Parts: sequence; structure tokens; C-alpha cells
Amino acid sequence: MGGIYFNIWSCSNCDYTSRSVSGPFRVEPKVGTPKAKIEYRWCNDCKAIQRTFTGEGDAIIPGKEPDSPINSWEFSSIEDFEKTIKKLELKKKNNIFFFLTKDAKKLKKYYESKVLCDKYTQENLVFYKNLKPKPKCLICGGTKVGNLPYDLDTHSCGGKFVLKDSGRLGSVGQFEVITYTSDGIATSEMRNMR
Ligand SMILES: [Zn+2]
Ligand SMILES: [Zn+2]
Repeated sequence: MGGIYFNIWSCSNCDYTSRSVSGPFRVEPKVGTPKAKIEYRWCNDCKAIQRTFTGEGDAIIPGKEPDSPINSWEFSSIEDFEKTIKKLELKKKNNIFFFLTKDAKKLKKYYESKVLCDKYTQENLVFYKNLKPKPKCLICGGTKVGNLPYDLDTHSCGGKFVLKDSGRLGSVGQFEVITYTSDGIATSEMRNMR
């Protein structure tokens, strides 16, 4: 069993407020579809901040690329990955026997992963740049969504959107998986937690 998590959104200028479920939740491309950037944006049909298919290609995080030479749980962000490479490069510089260490093998694998990630990221960017699909709300499928992530966008009243609070609300044995096509058409499915 896991918790249900939610976000409460508000506006800096008016008394607008809405709540959306933030987890357990997964958004992923359909098999064979390149990964698109998903952002929290304003949806004018839902009148809420929702997960939005941006129609732009997304970066692939090291460990998440197909045929990755490293474990997927090792890095949570590209920045985290780059930091680790830097650390190992420093060790390499300060140890003439570095090539004999386990770290040398690791460093080699990290660079292999980096090459793959750069390749897939580039492919994602080019794919969506050519296709130019419209941004879409993943919840209602509407196309009247903001052009910017919520924190850079403005409410119709001129105010700024603010993530006011987030929290946990009870427990659940299932989670929602949303899969999208390259046109941002989403299907939702409930899966049991393990
Ligand atoms: Zn407002
Ligand atoms: Zn919507």
C-alpha cells in the first residue's frame, strides 16, 4: 500500500485554488514512442494546473536509456550523473594507478551511458521538432493549455501560480499509469502496486 499524494495550487493575486493528485502516478510514452517533456501547465478546460504533454522531446536520464550499461537506480538527474563523472575524473587525475581500480571501469561505463543518452535525447528533440504536435492536457486531452510551465505562466487575473502545499491523503493499493502517443493522446490505466 502506498499513500495518495496531492498538490494544492493557488494564485498570488486572486483567491483561485485547486487540488490535483500528484501520486502515485506515472506518465510514460507508448512503446516505440520517443519520450516527450511533461510539465505542469495551466489547462483552460480543466481550469487547473495539470500534467501536460508539451510536444517537445525530453532528455534521457543516464541509466534510463535502452541497453544502458549502468543501473537505472543509480542516478536521479543528469546533474547528479555529471557530478559523479567529475568526481571520478578528479580521482583519475590524482592517481597514476587509477586504471587498475574499479572506479576506472565505472568511469568507462558512465561515458558509454553518456554517449547513448546524448544520442537518444538528440533523437527525441529532432523527432518532436519535425512532428510539431500540439501541447495537450494529459487529463482531459484539451489543447487549450499554457505555453509555459506553471511557475513561469500567469493566471488570467495577472497573478502568478503558486504551489501552495502538498501532502498525503490516505492509502491506496493501485496507481495510475498514463501512456501517450507522439500526438499527446493519452490513455490511463490502473495498476496494482507490488
Ligand atoms: Zn488569479
Ligand atoms: Zn485539461
